[in-house]
Amino acid sequence: MSKEVRVRFAPSPTGPLHIGGVRTALYNYLFARKMGGKFLLRIEDTDQIRFVPGAEEYIKESLEWLNISPDESPWNPGDSAPYRQSERKQDYMKYALDLLEAGHAYYAFDTSDELEAMRERLTAARVVQPQYNSITRTQMKNSLTLPEDEVKARLASGEPYVIRVKIPRKEEVRLNDMIRGWVMVHSSTLDDKVLMKSDGMPTYHLANIVDDHLMGITHVIRGEEWLPSAPLHVLLYKFFGWEDTMPEFAHLPLLLKPDGNGKLSKRDGDKLGFPVFPLNWENKETGETAAGFREQGYLPAAFLNFLAFLGWNPGDDREIFSLEELIDAFSIERIGKSGTKFDIAKAKWFNEQYIRTMSNAELADFLIADAKAEGVEVSKEKAEAIVQLTKERVTFPSDFWSQNKFILQKLEDFDQAIASKKWNQDAVKVLTAYAIALDNFDGTFDASSAKSLLEATAETQGIKLGKVMQAVRLSVTGSGVGPDLMEVFAILGTEDVANRIRFALATLEIID
Ligand code: GLU
Repeated sequence: MSKEVRVRFAPSPTGPLHIGGVRTALYNYLFARKMGGKFLLRIEDTDQIRFVPGAEEYIKESLEWLNISPDESPWNPGDSAPYRQSERKQDYMKYALDLLEAGHAYYAFDTSDELEAMRERLTAARVVQPQYNSITRTQMKNSLTLPEDEVKARLASGEPYVIRVKIPRKEEVRLNDMIRGWVMVHSSTLDDKVLMKSDGMPTYHLANIVDDHLMGITHVIRGEEWLPSAPLHVLLYKFFGWEDTMPEFAHLPLLLKPDGNGKLSKRDGDKLGFPVFPLNWENKETGETAAGFREQGYLPAAFLNFLAFLGWNPGDDREIFSLEELIDAFSIERIGKSGTKFDIAKAKWFNEQYIRTMSNAELADFLIADAKAEGVEVSKEKAEAIVQLTKERVTFPSDFWSQNKFILQKLEDFDQAIASKKWNQDAVKVLTAYAIALDNFDGTFDASSAKSLLEATAETQGIKLGKVMQAVRLSVTGSGVGPDLMEVFAILGTEDVANRIRFALATLEIID
């Protein structure tokens, strides 16, 4: 029997979760569900300087909003607890020392000034990548160059040190990425990365490998920005003797700016006028804020569907997928290699499609709540009628209120540009007569009877209805455009329509 699939999403709590991170979480979730495995969440908080309070809560809330909560996490621990690296701190040193003993790591005592001097020296000598590596380490202060006694003495005296990995000088490192295929890197291009910092905390590289191993991770699905680190990770698995259980790697394509020029960054949201974060964010300490998809009115299922397509496709032209359908259709083989352009129009399109499939009753609740916030009471029946009328025209649930508040509030203003062109004698004649006809109307007032009555009125006045139609719309809605006018009349009822017409007749100036 093959091993249970265990994947993890491993964000660092350094700020709000970027949309790229949410996509990584989603692909991990889909893969876990598809394979009948487990989706873990591990908080990688070893970098205490970059730690931002509230970021972990934000991650939790984002995943909950999208209904892709992890099976194991800091707030829902399983057998691999703890799920915060800061709480696993005591374990990492042991693993670093194991590597040291096996000759795959070493102590380094160089001060930051000494490191800087090395970089300057190498830059002056036109070394393209000045780094601490198999060549330069021979000239630095570390346990490979210093006599053993001195190393011991320095350690005993409490002198600050780091532990670095000892990258072999000549070795081809190979990994078979599930998305990219074979990736080959020569070890001479890698540097001797720090594994343990002088504050006693592990770096990302060490903690990530140790934890993936201890948590039984079978597949590492993460962003492409981690591909350059993967050869080091492969070497670490080898040095630890964990090659047999080394996870498979899948590096997801980058999310690109809408024009395809470069990676979509955290700051692009402000520049491009759309969110790049799932939820609104506010850093109470710095005052920094960011807009979220949730607060802009994206439905979680629509946003999730949109996200799934940022790098993956089902291989046919279907686009609307529920979470269950995504799980069913998902495969890593169908994730593309090249970056995906971020297209906000597509996100809106998904939202529109999802709104259209929702029931009038569900959507009416959005309208009722928004109206209430403005101090307007609207019955469920009326709200449903409005929703039915405008469902095909909205992008966000909040559009129901903003596009239809003219129906629910007293009309105060008229579009003067339309009035100055259309508010003529003929319009006034027809509307004056129509208001009277409405007063006397007896029967069921629906879109069709509203229309017949209006047509009959115009005919009696000897005026072509088409010529005054925009003025009719203006008098009742205040504007020259909007949903089916006769349906609006039916929702308003005879009395309200007649009152609005009379108000317009009393307010607007006739142009001829
Ligand atoms: N902590 C890393 C991040 O913030 C995780 C990378 C990985 O998944 O290995 O993205």
